[in-house]
Amino acid sequence: MSSPAEVRRLSGYRLRLEGQQCSTCGEVQLPPRPLCRRCRSTTLEVRRFVPRGKVISFAEVSQAPSGFSGPYVIALVALEEGAIVGAQLSDVTVEEVEIGMPVEVTIRRLRQCSTEEAEGLVEYGAKFRLSSSSDGGART
Ligand SMILES: [Zn+2]
Repeated sequence: MSSPAEVRRLSGYRLRLEGQQCSTCGEVQLPPRPLCRRCRSTTLEVRRFVPRGKVISFAEVSQAPSGFSGPYVIALVALEEGAIVGAQLSDVTVEEVEIGMPVEVTIRRLRQCSTEEAEGLVEYGAKFRLSSSSDGGART
């Protein structure tokens, strides 16, 4: 069977921004870990983060890995609730990005799998795009 665009969505924390909050000290963390990074407690609850934050660091990837189309911008994003996550920025060039820019999660195509894995399979996942303060951003 030859489907032109099979789709696979990433499960778990990356797609849903699902991390943890420590019941002992209140620390939040993403991705999930067996222990709290601050107090080493194992009493951790699943915490789904609000998908908004600010760029705290970024860089352009000019030589994209196999299956990705470059150049693209990767960034560290500090979520509003304190956790830090690394992800691609969508719909921007590196010249348009500034430290402190507000961003929000958008689900976009991440890569097309190579022949050895599963030819034609397209993988989707979370990226961040700039939040528009003027119009609130278009939702798809
Ligand atoms: Zn803790």
